[in-house]
Amino acid sequence: MAIHEYDLVVIGGGINGSGIAADAAERGLKVALFEAKDFASATSSASSKLIHGGLRYLEQYEFRLVREALGEREVLLQKAPHLITPMRFRLPHRPHLRPAWMIRIGLFLYDHLAKRVTLPASCGIRFDPHTSALQSQIRKGFEYSDGWVDDSRLVVANLMHARELGADVYNYRPCVSATRDNGQWLVTVQDERSGETSQVRAKALVNAGGPWVKSIFDEQLKLKSPRGIRMIQGSHILVPQIHKEKCAYILQNEDGRIVFVIPYLNKYSLIGTTDLEYKGDPRQVHISESEIDYLCNVVNNHFKHNIRREEIIWSYSGVRPLCEDESDSPQAITRDYTLELQDEQGQTPLVSIFGGKLTTFRKLAEAAVNKLQPYFNCGDCQSEKSILPGGNCDPEQLATQLLNDYPFLNKTICRRIAHAYGTNVFNWLEGAHSKEELGQWFGEQLSQREVDYLVSVEWALSADDILWRRTKLGIITDESDAKALADYLPSMQSADEAPMAQVG
Ligand SMILES: Cc1cc2nc3c(=O)[nH]c(=O)nc-3n(C[C@H](O)[C@H](O)[C@H](O)COP(=O)(O)OP(=O)(O)OC[C@H]3O[C@@H](n4cnc5c(N)ncnc54)[C@H](O)[C@@H]3O)c2cc1C
Repeated sequence: MAIHEYDLVVIGGGINGSGIAADAAERGLKVALFEAKDFASATSSASSKLIHGGLRYLEQYEFRLVREALGEREVLLQKAPHLITPMRFRLPHRPHLRPAWMIRIGLFLYDHLAKRVTLPASCGIRFDPHTSALQSQIRKGFEYSDGWVDDSRLVVANLMHARELGADVYNYRPCVSATRDNGQWLVTVQDERSGETSQVRAKALVNAGGPWVKSIFDEQLKLKSPRGIRMIQGSHILVPQIHKEKCAYILQNEDGRIVFVIPYLNKYSLIGTTDLEYKGDPRQVHISESEIDYLCNVVNNHFKHNIRREEIIWSYSGVRPLCEDESDSPQAITRDYTLELQDEQGQTPLVSIFGGKLTTFRKLAEAAVNKLQPYFNCGDCQSEKSILPGGNCDPEQLATQLLNDYPFLNKTICRRIAHAYGTNVFNWLEGAHSKEELGQWFGEQLSQREVDYLVSVEWALSADDILWRRTKLGIITDESDAKALADYLPSMQSADEAPMAQVG
């Protein structure tokens, strides 16, 4: 079989790789993306899930990053309104940690560094000691706006968009080597399921390996990495809701760090994060006892309700792949990104991504594809205006419509699927008249029709792909339902397969 030829191959299906694939496909490039495990299985599903400017980064004078990230809030709210929701954040005032004047200046900059269209401005607030969830001595604070995002679904939405524009997208297919060969990249990938290797050719390559960006240089490309990265572990815990307000809290800790308490899936509070240097295999990262203590202590120093360890329902950890900048402490390392372009006699360009944030993925992708522009006759970036699949809706109105049109579904399901799929929900729900018509149920919320859709359209292959990344139903799914789902899956067909030349 002839070897498939692409303009661009992207290694890594986290938010940065998927954003780059979507941007390049929008500009008319023929793109393939290979992800070693499931999409968003690494850092891009382990974030705090905020689309934010990063109030704290102002203290580190990261004005470029904060301005870009602040501007992206409004762009992304338009681009994926089903996946990204505006959220108010309450900052209790702790005078011995940061004086009020300093916070007011910070919030003024936050409100004005970039264009704000829909998000309300910041303001000072008072907490009523009788009704507030905070301890009664905390009387004053501030409120400001940012956004909340379903991080792993944002990755999949970008990949679906890339596919609509002609990209070939594969999960569970690690790149095992990529070499320059006759003015092209020869990329070898291995199918995790069958073990078979295959090859494609490409004019350009992107290394979007996140925490693996340097090891991809060492092991797959056999080239010297132009930069180092610092891996910084961050962990979160999930507990039953500790406050009823729709807003999130941003708590200042004595060590100068901040911890978020974010309303999650209507009945939980998501608490994080930590900042610790990490040296091991990024896939093995997990929360430590001291991180649990740290997060519980910060919350217990602020809220009336004290969390106990037994209340923790779920925890997760991820590794921030930060660009090495020789900072002493993990929290001081820049959250900004650096792109490196290398080529050989004007051919076979390689763009590598060091650092970055979920919030800035679109601008990062634009900058990465701009670097490739001289090698291709491709146009300018279009991603500011394009809407991600399913995003042409108001998700709350859609949830109300679903409840009306499909009365056999309850409010919780309707809200969940409206936000998860946007208008794409009709691709699997259309025509159903009863719960039974949706087939087998795996727990109270997940139907066979939804599972079939996730497998055939969203590349889901395992129960974990479905329960922890395409949805977060893993939190409420018991062992027997998870097993029933796993038993059901092998009989399913996987997402589309494009032909590739076999090796050997
Ligand atoms: C605790 C924590 C909280 C955070 N909170 C926020 C937040 O609230 N807001 C925000 O904007 N940002 C946040 N971030 C940052 C953000 O999550 C990351 O910057 C972003 O997810 C990095 O995406 P990525 O695509 O570079 O890396 P990843 O998501 O890690 O993707 C890299 C991918 O490359 C794949 N890969 C590796 N080797 C190969 C190979 N040989 N072949 C094919 N694929 C390969 C991996 O499997 C992986 O899926 C947070 C990060 C952490 C850790």
